[in-house]
Amino acid sequence: MNGWQYIPMKSYLLQLIQNIRVSDLFDIAIITILSYVILVWFKKTASRFVLIGIVILAMIYAMARIFHLYLTEYVLQGFFAILIIALIIIFQEDLRRFFERLATWRIVRKIPLGTSPHHDAEVISRVVTKLIQKRQGALIVLRGDDLLDRHLRGGFVLEGKLSETILESIFDPHSTGHDGAVVIENSAISKFGCHLPLSVNISKFGNLGLRHTAALGLSERCDAVCIVVSEENGTVAIAREGTLSTLLNPGDLAALLIQFFHRRVPAGKKGAWVRWISENSWEKATAIILACGLWFAFGYQTESIRRDYVIPIVYKNLTADWIIEEQKPKEATTTLMGSKQAFDLLNEDSLKIVLDMTAVKEGKQQVLIGTENLQHPSNVTVVDIKPSKIGFVARRLVRIEAPIEVRTSGALPEGLKLRKIDIVPASIQVITLSKNIKNIKIVTEPINLEEISGTTKLAPRLIIPEEVASVNGRQPSVEVTIEIE
Ligand code: ATP
Ligand code: MG
Repeated sequence: MNGWQYIPMKSYLLQLIQNIRVSDLFDIAIITILSYVILVWFKKTASRFVLIGIVILAMIYAMARIFHLYLTEYVLQGFFAILIIALIIIFQEDLRRFFERLATWRIVRKIPLGTSPHHDAEVISRVVTKLIQKRQGALIVLRGDDLLDRHLRGGFVLEGKLSETILESIFDPHSTGHDGAVVIENSAISKFGCHLPLSVNISKFGNLGLRHTAALGLSERCDAVCIVVSEENGTVAIAREGTLSTLLNPGDLAALLIQFFHRRVPAGKKGAWVRWISENSWEKATAIILACGLWFAFGYQTESIRRDYVIPIVYKNLTADWIIEEQKPKEATTTLMGSKQAFDLLNEDSLKIVLDMTAVKEGKQQVLIGTENLQHPSNVTVVDIKPSKIGFVARRLVRIEAPIEVRTSGALPEGLKLRKIDIVPASIQVITLSKNIKNIKIVTEPINLEEISGTTKLAPRLIIPEEVASVNGRQPSVEVTIEIE
């Protein structure tokens, strides 16, 4: 076998395409999705430095193993043992979000009834403009795809249609509900007066007050967009995906919101797909290339190889009353052919020659074996099985009632006369090979008559020949009565 034969590019590609199975496509698809998820997550997560740290440690560990640095290896091993728990704690928020997203994921979002992106954007931006003029603070949360409830504390449920009047009233400093955030989802004000989780990494955004910190905090935890109207400065800031930016021109707000709502509620099905493809396109392309590369390196092999296996011979449909003896040969050798990866996945223990014993007859016989007798995975083919015949002797076990004979030794003491010897039971059930039926004889251990002084009951052991087994596998007990006149 020479793996490095020169194959022209065109026929190589042809061969490649011919060899791809449906399962290979699934293989690539799954790895693509996994890589994509990890890449996107890596891009977004604030904890990615933790990941980089772990990768560095893993590299040090690999080095330590290669160069036999026992102490380092030992310490790192201990560290990796608790790493899983550490990772779950560090990435708790990411994991929660990941599973939540998995549960609520859909490419094409349903458009909720009665929503109008333009209308909503206009209403919000008009209210914001008024609030700036009046120098009133506000915090408005626009829900994305992620669920919000577990991030919100307190507040009042409203479930009312979004309107300028209500929004303005809520943020009126004389109202009790003006403190906290208003949540808008699907063109409705669902809650107001809510407390949002505070961000912990605010240093990069300068000296932030609580309202801004809360907006940033929520945007780090989910895909909602938070609009902050500053009471102190009369500015509008937008927090999304863990960043906070102040709008230079508050008039841009409407346009920005329309953009956000369109992302949420796309114009039509086609729009959703186009958007889905163009979103994170760099990560998608990388994931596809990565998966194809991995599949090429590990999954794909055109070259077929052959391997020999010594495999056992087993019987099927053999009822318990048959005994197979003198099987020759004991094992068979088979030559299998397939790709390297098929052999990598092959479980050697699953290879067996199976002989169907439904129609077995008594006596010496030979059975031909062919490919159909060999259990093997479908991705390898059987080239050869040796030998082509298996010989054996089949014997049948039968159950018979064997009489028991009482053996005695010596003679009765003088003056005593034997009337009769009784045995109970007089026969027992045994199992034996059918050829032995005629010669089966079961006797008791010899009873010494010299020791007998009157009528006696005894329980002698039975001598059971080797070719016989008692039905229940136990030594049967009998009672012998020697009657003296
Ligand atoms: P501003 O620029 O308007 O002054 P700020 O970011 O400086 O805002 P603070 O001055 O601390 O924030 O504003 C306090 C207001 O922020 C409170 O009156 C309350 O309405 C709101 N707020 C504070 N904490 C939260 C929170 N966890 N969730 C929602 N709103 C909050
Ligand atoms: Mg303040």
